[in-house]
Amino acid sequence: MANMNRDLPLTDIAYMEAALAQARLAMMQGEVPVGAVVVHDGRIVGVGHNCPVTGHDPSAHAEMQALRAAAKALGNYRLPECDLYVTLEPCVMCAGAIMHARVRRVVFGASDPKTGACGSVVDLFAETRLNHHAEVTGGVMRDECVGVLQAFFAERRAAARARKLAAAEPAADPDSESPTLMRKH
Ligand SMILES: [Zn+2]
Repeated sequence: MANMNRDLPLTDIAYMEAALAQARLAMMQGEVPVGAVVVHDGRIVGVGHNCPVTGHDPSAHAEMQALRAAAKALGNYRLPECDLYVTLEPCVMCAGAIMHARVRRVVFGASDPKTGACGSVVDLFAETRLNHHAEVTGGVMRDECVGVLQAFFAERRAAARARKLAAAEPAADPDSESPTLMRKH
């Protein structure tokens, strides 16, 4: 797995590691684990993790959180010298925000065949009628980024199965009924 990343610049790996740490924070809160960081001049100036459920905020994707934090830190609503690292391919909303912010480069890990706007479903960055074109690199530390998502969904499926079993148990277990039945007679 590590070998697949051997040709990547060390900086890409380091910043994607930081984005993965954010994804794990999301996971601990029961959110789909996606994390992002914004880098300016070799320094992380904004971080974010996916939290729409706990934040009651449909726009609280990792990229949006990281862009907001970076813009605040730099005192500028535009981030033309910044690069954004995110563990999952940005959606249409986040791609739009990335364009509005004039982000220079977008680096993502896992592709998202359901909502990806960097080539999976649509490719907004290749749309010549839109006036901003960030450089996009996908598949950086893909296995690690996919792994954290797979772990989350596997855990969620296991929890759902356990809940289903627990709910079915009282009726399915004749032993639990017998003391009551015996007392009745
Ligand atoms: Zn998004």
